[in-house]
This record gives sequence, C-alpha cells and structure tokens, in this order.
Amino acid sequence: MLTPVSEDHRVLIEGVRNYARGELLALDGKWDKEESSCCERLGQLYEMGLMGLRVPEDHGGLGCPMLAYGHIIRELAYASPSVAVTVGVHSMVCEALKMFARDALRDEMQGKLLMPGNLAAFAVSEADAGSDPGAAQTRAEKAAGGWQLFGSKFWVSNGLTGRWFIVLARTGNAGTSKDLSMFLLDAQQPGVGRRPIHGKMGIRGSETAEMNLDGAFVPEANLLGKLGDGLKIALSALDGGRIGIAAQAIGISQACLDHMVSYSKERKQFNRLIAEFQAIQWMIADTQTELAAAQLLTDQAAVLKDSGASFTCEASMAKLFASEAANRIAYRAVQVHGGSGFVNECRVEQLYRDARVTTIYEGTSEIQRHVIAREVLKGA
Ligand SMILES: Cc1cc2nc3c(=O)[nH]c(=O)nc-3n(C[C@H](O)[C@H](O)[C@H](O)COP(=O)(O)OP(=O)(O)OC[C@H]3O[C@@H](n4cnc5c(N)ncnc54)[C@H](O)[C@@H]3O)c2cc1C
Repeated sequence: MLTPVSEDHRVLIEGVRNYARGELLALDGKWDKEESSCCERLGQLYEMGLMGLRVPEDHGGLGCPMLAYGHIIRELAYASPSVAVTVGVHSMVCEALKMFARDALRDEMQGKLLMPGNLAAFAVSEADAGSDPGAAQTRAEKAAGGWQLFGSKFWVSNGLTGRWFIVLARTGNAGTSKDLSMFLLDAQQPGVGRRPIHGKMGIRGSETAEMNLDGAFVPEANLLGKLGDGLKIALSALDGGRIGIAAQAIGISQACLDHMVSYSKERKQFNRLIAEFQAIQWMIADTQTELAAAQLLTDQAAVLKDSGASFTCEASMAKLFASEAANRIAYRAVQVHGGSGFVNECRVEQLYRDARVTTIYEGTSEIQRHVIAREVLKGA
C-alpha cells in the first residue's frame, strides 16, 4: 500500500479482498453473461457493513475515511466492477445526506441506509442532460406539505432495487444555477415508474434504469440544503464519487495486470515464455507504472478530502488518469492474451468492456479536463 491506512482499516481491506475474490469473482461473470443484477448479493454486503462504509460510527456505520474507502472499492472492483459501483453510488448518497440533509432527516436516514431494503441511488442525469446537469427538465411543483416531482431521469445506477433516490429537479425558471433543487425521494409510492436499461457494453451486473416521475410526493423535510442548492449538491457529491470511480478503475487495472503476468508466465511461443519477450515486459512495466501513479493520485485526493481541504481538482485528476489508464491497461491485457483474450471465457475480455464506462460516468474525461483547467486557471 503506497499511502498507509490504520491497522484496523488494513485488516478490513484485507477482509474485503478475501471476500470479493472468494465470493464475488465467480458470480461476476454470471451477472455479465446473464445481464442479471448483482443486487442478489446485497444481503451479504449489508451484513459485512459495506453499505455503511461512509456512515459515521455513531450512527452505526463503519465511518471509513475516504482513503480506506477507496482501497475497499478497489478490492471490490478487482472481483466485480458492478458491485463496486453499486456500493459506490450508495455511499455517495449516504455522504450527500450526511452533508446536506436537515438534522432529523440526516439522523433518520443514516440509520436506515445501513438496513437491507434501503439501497440508495443518484438521479441527476436525464436523456438530454448528461455532462450538463444544469439542463435538467424534471420539475418539482409545490404541493400541500411538500413537492410533487414530474419528469424523467435516465442512467440511474441502483435504479431498480433502490428505494431512496436523490433527485435533481427544477424549482425555478430564472435561467441561473439556482433554478435546481435536490430532493430525497422514497421510490416506494405511486407516481414512480422504473424501467431497466439493457444492452450495456460493460458492468452488466450493475442495475441501470430510467425513472419516470408522475407526481411522486416528497415532503418538505426532504429538500436537501436550501431551495436552489441542487446543482451545488450534485457537484459536491460527484467530487467524492469521482474518487470512488478512480478506485474502481484501479481495481480493474490491477486485475488486468495480474492476468497479464500469470498468462505471460504460462504461454510459450517460439519455445519461450512470452514473459521473456521485451515487448510483453514493456506492457507489464507501463501498466505497473500507470497503476502506481493512479493509486497515488487517488490516495492524494482521498487524503485531502479526509483533511477537510478542497479536493475538487485532485479528484478530477485521479478520475481522469485512473480511468484513461484502465482503458489502456485493459487493452494491453487483451493484447498479452492474444486470441484467447478476445473470447468471453477469458476474464480480461470482460474487464476490457467493464473498464470502458469509467471514462464516461460521474463526468466524462472531457468534463474532468474542464474541471481541472478551471481550478488551475482560478489559482493562476
Ligand atoms: C452505466 C452508466 C451508469 C450511470 N449512472 C448514473 C447515475 O447513477 N446517476 C446519474 O445521474 N447519471 C448516471 N450516468 C450518466 C453519466 O453520468 C452520463 O452518461 C455522463 O455524465 C455523460 O453524459 P451523456 O451520456 O449525456 O453524454 P453527453 O453529455 O451528451 O456527452 C457526449 C460527448 O460530448 C462531450 N462533451 C459534452 N460536453 C462537453 C464540453 N463542455 N466540452 C467538451 N466535451 C463535451 C462528452 O465528453 C462526450 O464525449 C450513468 C451513465 C452510464 C453509462
């Protein structure tokens, strides 16, 4: 480990690694082939406390610092990138509620989110509002005691099994960032329709859904922050979420490297192990170097977040570098396997597809570059 964590967290990370490689790895290929939901294993994740990683200890959670959290997500992603994003999105919502919910709602939800049946989701994107969430058209209309939501959200991870959704909705039409507010919606009610989005290239065990809102009710107490704070809350949640996606990309990359190394030490051509060829060694060397750089960038962002310092730029750098590196690394992993790597019996074939989304969700690489440049220029 490049940046040390406490002994307790080291033991926890080790336990998650053993569990993930022992239990999730075998299932991950099945979820991919069948396009079935990894939420079938949520019960175990709740039992192990992994759905409360970012819930404070005084609310019954594990209260994991971001540094240790990133390493846990990496271990989950090594075995199942789908499980990693399921836990990551849930944790991101736990954190947003911790930061922005009013006291009573925060206390109620921190306890609830640790209990089975309370998976959380982040419903910000829409079909026509992806990189630009400020263009969201879902609207919240004032009703007795709260708000009613109308519109449609797209790409909602955890969107089928999830019960608690933070939803970005339009509460004004002034044409400024203050037009949007964030609400916590209980999806177990009339007016909420959900439909799976099938045919994904990768992370096929992670649920992705479209959500239709037709008058779903949100009590006034479930407004997060103040009216008009919605975009600020979404972007703040994404800052932390990006550390999780960087960690997911690192887990995929580490799995690719391990497969490259073991295959190159078994496969012979020209009467030599392919590991003896310099071309293969260079792919391994480049991968190891990029992995270490991705880990350091991710740890740096996590340590800054844990210290309370600003980490927006560092989280974007970690996500940009780790996700782009994961795609290069997965490409190499297939290359080292030759034709075998092109067949879905081979683990690296799936990892190659799973890596792809990491440069897209929670802000594309182009958006990360935009954030990084903005932060650099601000300080110049
Ligand atoms: C599997 C999956 C799960 C997801 N889960 C969630 C979720 O749980 N919750 C949620 O809210 N969203 C989720 N998303 C949505 C995701 O965050 C968006 O897909 C992403 O932000 C990109 O938006 P878009 O797909 O609309 O692409 P677009 O925004 O249409 O972008 C298309 C292209 O244009 C580029 N582009 C756009 N704007 C600019 C610009 N200003 N400068 C330069 N280039 C630009 C992009 O980088 C990209 O290359 C998920 C997406 C996927 C694929």
